[in-house]
Amino acid sequence: MSQQTRRIEHFIRGEIVPSTSGRSQDVTNPATGEVTAQVALGSVEEVNAAVAAASEAAPAWADTAPLKRARVLFKFKELIERHHEDLAKAITSEHGKVLSDARGEVVRGLEIVEFACGIPQLLKTQYTDNIGGGIDNWQLRQPLGVTAGITPFNFPVMVPLWMAPVALATGNSFVLKPSERDPTPSLIMADLLKQAGLPDGVFNVVQGDKTAVDTLLHHPDVKAISFVGSTPIAEYVYTEGSRRKGAWPLRVQALGGAKNHLVVMPDADLDQAVDALIGAAYGSAGERCMAISVAVAVGNVADRLIDALIPRVKSLKIMNGMEEAAEMGPVVSAQHKAKIESYIEEGVRAGAKLLVDGRGFKVSGHENGFFLGGTLFDDVTPEMKIYQEEIFGPVLCVVRVPDLRAAVELINAHEYGNGVSLFTSDGNTAREFSRRIEVGMVGVNVPIPVPMAWHSFGGWKRSLFGDMHIYGDEGVRFYTRYKSIMQRWPQSIVKGAEFTMPVAK
Ligand code: NAD
Repeated sequence: MSQQTRRIEHFIRGEIVPSTSGRSQDVTNPATGEVTAQVALGSVEEVNAAVAAASEAAPAWADTAPLKRARVLFKFKELIERHHEDLAKAITSEHGKVLSDARGEVVRGLEIVEFACGIPQLLKTQYTDNIGGGIDNWQLRQPLGVTAGITPFNFPVMVPLWMAPVALATGNSFVLKPSERDPTPSLIMADLLKQAGLPDGVFNVVQGDKTAVDTLLHHPDVKAISFVGSTPIAEYVYTEGSRRKGAWPLRVQALGGAKNHLVVMPDADLDQAVDALIGAAYGSAGERCMAISVAVAVGNVADRLIDALIPRVKSLKIMNGMEEAAEMGPVVSAQHKAKIESYIEEGVRAGAKLLVDGRGFKVSGHENGFFLGGTLFDDVTPEMKIYQEEIFGPVLCVVRVPDLRAAVELINAHEYGNGVSLFTSDGNTAREFSRRIEVGMVGVNVPIPVPMAWHSFGGWKRSLFGDMHIYGDEGVRFYTRYKSIMQRWPQSIVKGAEFTMPVAK
């Protein structure tokens, strides 16, 4: 490591805190393969220090009026808008996605900040006057205290913003453990929150890996963890977190991986379906939890669909995401590229028909970048590993089925249930499909149905562990505890002990 290598450290109690753990990891620009920084991998003590800072800051922040908390978020919103391009460039240079997509990611995160600005309204609860005997009954929604977020590499701005604005607006403090593969945006956001007037210690960042995650999971002061990442780790975080002993059980929501299908009905507008598939399968090099990785061709649509897809996949504009013309950038790392290539090999071995092979793709001037071409398989069947597992790369599998019923059965038999899409021009088909499908987020003629900020996000089955979806109303519920209060005053109290169950009289 040269002396000039940039270090990416923790942010605790309102300032950058250099790590002394002695452990760090390379951060790489996927388009060039160059190491651009070293990220600290936090120790148990460093995570404990971040939680201590969050614990100390939590009571005063919880007592701050909701409108004042919202004002900080309003300022944060303005600052994100001002630094939109810096955030987008930081995403592209560590993740690899194209700059226009990175800009869109920032906007989708910003929308949650906008939602959280309305928190005084969202925290209002219900009140019943005079339930009987001079007693009134109402609820409070109170913050939990220290909350934490553990986030994946594929949305280094948006996913932390699915969590932190809602946690902060509802009066909690927050510790973010971002992905170690693209950690720079976490520090930009920490700095913007500080500039927005957030008191020191209310938002902290610890860089790290499993050590940091495990420390957060077992720390008695952490009251809730939001996790987004792959299914094996989501399941681990959920089960391990649920096992924690102590007075306050840990609240966990853990969003996992996906295998999202797009069903093309024979009555669909084929051009629209093809456009949707190309964007949703190859955008962000398929590294989206809502990417479409399976096209389900119903009835006689398959051959027409395949004929239209092949030239489009072959002509994807694949280059450094910083170039404005780019439609698809590299994948995140050399290891991930090798993993995707081994899935392609596995598909061929299993007998799927490889129509476009993305292996061996080179971008001139970027020979060390982690590029892959778009890949298209036909005749994929449910027993194949390339159908069952999340590849998380620019690989689209076409499965042929005879009718809508078979499409629904196919999708409902899959272990993942994050997103799904249907292309049709028939209202009844759309209605039946939306009602029967066992998937958390459904798009009708919409390829990537990521709910808006005030409609919560979450998959079903092994795409989400826990009961509450993320952001929106469910996010407000997740980060608050519900308390019922019953109150009467001395004048309405009848003398004498009551030994029967109190009922309204
Ligand atoms: P990942 O599971 O490898 O990492 C996610 C987080 O867990 C990171 O912060 C990482 O440091 C931590 N982690 C990794 N290994 C760990 C371990 N053994 N113990 C404890 N913590 C560990 O996921 P990723 O590769 O960064 O992200 C891609 C995955 O995330 C895909 O599966 C994708 O579908 C999923 N994802 C899901 C959603 C959703 O909303 N459901 C959204 C985005 C991404």
